[in-house]
Amino acid sequence: MNSKLGMAAIAVGALLTTGCGTEEDALTEAHRPEGSELGQAEQLTTCPAALPVYPVNGRHNNGYDATWANWQCTPSASSVSNTDSHLGNDIFGAKGTPIVAGQAGHIRLGFTDPTGGKVVYIQDGCGWWYYYAHLDTVSTALAVGQFVSAGTYLGTLGQTGNASGTAPHLHFSIYPDGNYNAGIDPYPLLRAAEGTACSTSRVGRDSGGGFYGAISTCHSRNGGAAAAGTPFDNGGTPHVHRWGAGVVQDNNGGTLGPNTCMLKDGAGTAWMVRGSIWTAYVYQLGGSGSFLGYPIGEEFASATGPRQNFEGGYITWNGSAFAAFRY
Ligand SMILES: [Zn+2]
Repeated sequence: MNSKLGMAAIAVGALLTTGCGTEEDALTEAHRPEGSELGQAEQLTTCPAALPVYPVNGRHNNGYDATWANWQCTPSASSVSNTDSHLGNDIFGAKGTPIVAGQAGHIRLGFTDPTGGKVVYIQDGCGWWYYYAHLDTVSTALAVGQFVSAGTYLGTLGQTGNASGTAPHLHFSIYPDGNYNAGIDPYPLLRAAEGTACSTSRVGRDSGGGFYGAISTCHSRNGGAAAAGTPFDNGGTPHVHRWGAGVVQDNNGGTLGPNTCMLKDGAGTAWMVRGSIWTAYVYQLGGSGSFLGYPIGEEFASATGPRQNFEGGYITWNGSAFAAFRY
């Protein structure tokens, strides 16, 4: 994991050059599923498509432009529809950014196709299909036929399939049952949901199953002066979850944005994980069995960008990619 993540960071750096010098067409080429996956039995959709949650959970640029790497949390001027001929919108972001279900529904088909690379298909209750393509990883918790709610973690943003020579992005399409070519422009729905891109907070790897007192003091780099926000109910009544050798509490909002406070048993201080490192840790790197474990200090500025130390290693963010290292 150590060397692999390090290489991912290097690869993204190289692609920054490629992306800047690449024609827009190369970034938005057709990403349609294979023909064998089309032509499903046609049925009318029974209600409009909907997108309560933005599918990229983190900073992003919806639509290629000259400032594609100027990722933002909130709806921005750089967000444009680039549906044109390729029947979907491309959403650029850091490789490894969490991808979540924009709408509830059932997982359909498998998780790979030649054009989309690693993909997820979700069919909602009205017959609309939502297509997530070019993922770097697909969550191993997903299974075909499974029902997922909006916001469910699907995997991470990448550049697989025919996006292998482009900047990392999510290709996202919405189309009526089985008919990709009849797809609608997802941009208006994306735009309406864009405000949720960085606000869906959760620890996906807690073991749950108990009630624990809220963590009232959580050390942050601002010395605790910043508000941690409201404890977030991430599925079940308790807001604080048992997690291995301690407890964790997700917080929504607050002056530092979405964050997680983590208190190890016997430790006198709960440490906050927040910002880009929080995104990497909560969704990708800090799962049960991860070598990282609990944070042992606050985030700080290193020569290569923000860094936070954990029990077994550390996470860095260089502005374009996450990396984790074992001590
Ligand atoms: Zn695309």
